[in-house]
Amino acid sequence: MTTLHKIAVLPGDGIGPEVVREAMKVLELLKELDSSLHIDFETFDWNSDYYLENGRIMPKDGLEILKQYDAILFGAIGDARVPDEVTIWQLIMPIRKQLQQYINFRPVKLLKGVPSPLANEKDIDFVIIRENAEGEYSNSGGRLYTGLDQEIAVQNTIITRAGTKKVAEFAYEYAKKHGKQSVTSATKSNAILHSMVLWDEVVKEVSKDYPSIHTDHYFIDALVAYFVSRPQDFDVVVASNLFGDILSDLGSAVVGGLGLSPSANLNPERDFPSMFEPVHGSAPDIAGQGIANPIAQIWSSALMLEHLGRADLADVIVESIEQVLLDNQVRTPDLGGTSTTSDMGTAICESIKKVI
Ligand code: ATP
Ligand code: MG
Repeated sequence: MTTLHKIAVLPGDGIGPEVVREAMKVLELLKELDSSLHIDFETFDWNSDYYLENGRIMPKDGLEILKQYDAILFGAIGDARVPDEVTIWQLIMPIRKQLQQYINFRPVKLLKGVPSPLANEKDIDFVIIRENAEGEYSNSGGRLYTGLDQEIAVQNTIITRAGTKKVAEFAYEYAKKHGKQSVTSATKSNAILHSMVLWDEVVKEVSKDYPSIHTDHYFIDALVAYFVSRPQDFDVVVASNLFGDILSDLGSAVVGGLGLSPSANLNPERDFPSMFEPVHGSAPDIAGQGIANPIAQIWSSALMLEHLGRADLADVIVESIEQVLLDNQVRTPDLGGTSTTSDMGTAICESIKKVI
């Protein structure tokens, strides 16, 4: 018996709908080619236009609606007419937090056929596991007014033993399952003496259950330098919300840029749907021109298939993407070419037909 996967699709703003269209093309093709893949899609227009029309970015029961799906395929959100406060804190954050997607998972893999901006780099292949629900992005704090010219802003970082333990365990389990040799924890416990010290303690404790996996604790300032000087040395990098965010954008840059970088917001217990989205945003500077690179979005849908138990098809997608990049006939402008978003989606579909 095969399972029917119900997917909620949120294309969002800017290039979001343009790249989601290509990801859908790929998924529809896979449905045609593999009769055991059963996916149903429902698209939701919860974006900045929706906000401008309705005064809210999703319906009141939006999260309840999303909970009925097996996964969410998300494009990107962000529009100059709508404050980030709305797009981030009334859409993305509630989804991540309420659906308990406390892991942000980002592969950093240099695909064949893509030059890294780092000279002579070939074997970059690691994952970043970022804490996604607490940490520095906790929206806790405020302004203290203690008189004229005495304005003070306080921003709290919330690190919990339970939250950190779940993230660390996910990192080690991932390493174990995928035969990875090391886990690298990003920290700054020499300067951030409360939250980061607890983070370090918890990672150390969890590491004891995985004696065969090597653990490194690096201060974040040193680690960013190592990402540039020796990125091939990493396997699994685990980091707090802010550090993980910064490391992911840097990771993305060393493997060819935002157009190629997928991500997954995971609820490992599967109590709620997980969400799959590119690392990039809505890219207003190129929106509407049909030139965005859809690879990050298509790869994100591969991560979705993997999460739904179809690692075989996820591998087919990644291999097909690599083949297109190796062939070097179709390249969007971010990769130095003149192809369109749709050309790239079509080329990947053609490649899938050969690879599968
Ligand atoms: P956010 O705050 O939502 O993360 P951002 O400010 O980081 O957004 P992006 O929207 O990710 O910005 O865009 C950053 C730069 O990368 C822009 O110049 C954009 O055109 C480029 N870019 C992003 N995604 C793509 C893509 N898929 N293809 C080509 N270029 C892209
Ligand atoms: Mg960004």
